[in-house]
Amino acid sequence: MTDDPANKLAYDETFSCIQCGTCLPACPTYKTMGKETQSPRGRINLVKMAAEKKIPLEAIREPIDLCLGCRACERVCPTNVPYGKILESAKEALFEQQKDASSLLKRLEENLFYKQIFPKHQVMAVAGSLLWFYQKSGLKNLAHLTHLTKLLPENLETFERATPDVHVRGMHRAEHVKNETAANYKVAFFNGCVMDAVFGRINDMSVKLLIACGCSVVIPPKQTCCGALHLHGGRRAESKELARRNIEAFEAEAPDFVINNAGGCGAMLSEYPQLFADEPDWKARAERFSQHSIDISVLLAKLDLPLKKTLNYRVTLQPSCHMTNVQKVVNEPIRLIQKLDGVAFHPLDDPDFCCGSAGIYNLINYEPAMEILDVKMADVQKQNPDVIVTTNPGCLLQMRVGIERERLQDRMKAMHLVELLAEACGIE
Ligand code: SF4
Ligand code: SF4
Repeated sequence: MTDDPANKLAYDETFSCIQCGTCLPACPTYKTMGKETQSPRGRINLVKMAAEKKIPLEAIREPIDLCLGCRACERVCPTNVPYGKILESAKEALFEQQKDASSLLKRLEENLFYKQIFPKHQVMAVAGSLLWFYQKSGLKNLAHLTHLTKLLPENLETFERATPDVHVRGMHRAEHVKNETAANYKVAFFNGCVMDAVFGRINDMSVKLLIACGCSVVIPPKQTCCGALHLHGGRRAESKELARRNIEAFEAEAPDFVINNAGGCGAMLSEYPQLFADEPDWKARAERFSQHSIDISVLLAKLDLPLKKTLNYRVTLQPSCHMTNVQKVVNEPIRLIQKLDGVAFHPLDDPDFCCGSAGIYNLINYEPAMEILDVKMADVQKQNPDVIVTTNPGCLLQMRVGIERERLQDRMKAMHLVELLAEACGIE
């Protein structure tokens, strides 16, 4: 019965869980839902039982769908349970089970998003331009004045309000931005898909910052979406295809580093080798790629920032879970914030607690995501910052939603770390 989707479950890995429960306090869904089935230990047990055919595969769908994939459980686990691998195997099995049962319309809709939108830079650029037109043409104001946005489902209405102003920079950006005079490093910049379409200004600032720190920057034109959304949706084959395209695109430039500024994408890039466990040639190429792939904060923390301004901000940091738990980047963003003149850093009491963004979790599982966000915002309010700094576009959007929910817009804002550093360096 090799075609049974349950055979895709990472059964052997479930045995490394000794049921100690150390992970329970670290799990945001256990904290907010209070059920064993919504904890790491409970989910691992369910996967094991489904692999043993003691329960139907369908019985694990809800607990797996409600897992944020933040991997805070992995970080605290004394036996190093590979929870990410178990989770991905469950997503893949559930996707395989459902794909033939989905309606034609749902399949068309999903294929449109996963195959025709996210991986295509020009389609994402057009989507960003349409959003820009909606915001700048007066349509957005009109929709709000006439309360048309109230007709949207609550999740879409919330994110419509929280989306930042999009800056249109055209589809054809410079691909090589050289700094021949004093290049510290040759770096290749990873754009991301949503990051480039909605937060393109932060990408532009990232490139300017790298150049200001003496790097030569290349933007490989054939790069594509990192594939994280696909993998987290159980679409492993599509994710591998995107990984292959990125590895080829960046190999061609032979950079010292591949730089990204989105914690979730960076985590995916760092785990490319795991996609190719059965393909030794591609695994070796993926390992070379991942060894060079780092978050922008890791490189900037090593270089001299050309600081020009005193900022006078009280700042807290909401770190990206994938940056903390997968890339293991923790100290560099803090060190960079602490270098800035006039910035007082006030860490969160529980920075490792996910904000509830988790890719598109907050769109699909809106209510649980808002409950998790409320826990995060209570911690934020204790620090009373002027600025919440984040290191991932999803967290940035979620923090903007949190500020709105708590009606703090008049005295608090959310910024990507790159925006804060660029402001301190006088870069726009
Ligand atoms: S996943 Fe790790 S921390 Fe959680 S119960 Fe199992 S062994 Fe303990
Ligand atoms: S990945 Fe996050 S939400 Fe999922 S079980 Fe682990 S700690 Fe809980």
